[in-house]
Amino acid sequence: MKIIGTGMNYPSHNKEMQHSVAPSEPVLFMKPDTALLKNGKHFFMPAFAGEIHYEAEIVVRIDRLGRHIEERFARRYYNEVTLGIDFTARDIQKRLRAEGHPWEISKAFDNSAAVGHFFSLDDLGREADELHFRLLLNGQEVQSASTSEMIFSVERIISYASSFFTFRTGDLIYTGTPAGVGPVKPGDHLEGYIEDWKALDLYIR
Ligand code: MG
Repeated sequence: MKIIGTGMNYPSHNKEMQHSVAPSEPVLFMKPDTALLKNGKHFFMPAFAGEIHYEAEIVVRIDRLGRHIEERFARRYYNEVTLGIDFTARDIQKRLRAEGHPWEISKAFDNSAAVGHFFSLDDLGREADELHFRLLLNGQEVQSASTSEMIFSVERIISYASSFFTFRTGDLIYTGTPAGVGPVKPGDHLEGYIEDWKALDLYIR
């Protein structure tokens, strides 16, 4: 399976990151399957980075093979979502970006893609583009947003991404993070909710 990340998809996050130009197409990147961190396992701080940031995101699970998917048919390709953390080595990302290099390693390292419990949209009674979600860091709310704020909808991301990459069952799409990202340190506790459903619970070690 593969993991597709979406960058700069919330105006509030782009503002806090001081990105002055809004993207005209979805900004995509990939994480390998070795990035996946699931079942509430601890996230261990990697030795290489000075600053690891949490980014809470709604994650969509693809459940059909597909390529060149039209936006109007994209809804047929997923039915489960969770809250995930797109862990980012921010210091490395900033340095590579300033140097004009790809910032892959700051996003795709081992265990950088945490996922919580998946819920079907039927159970949530909502569509992926109308989900409120929030992240608590040590019991304090640090991120809170609705997927309705996304610049590019889930359908648009699927359609765009599938013009480059074939989707297979089990592939995951991280749909971008809103404002409120910040650093983690050993001992921190992250809890994520979709609406009032607890989806994610993990500790930083
Ligand atoms: Mg992200």
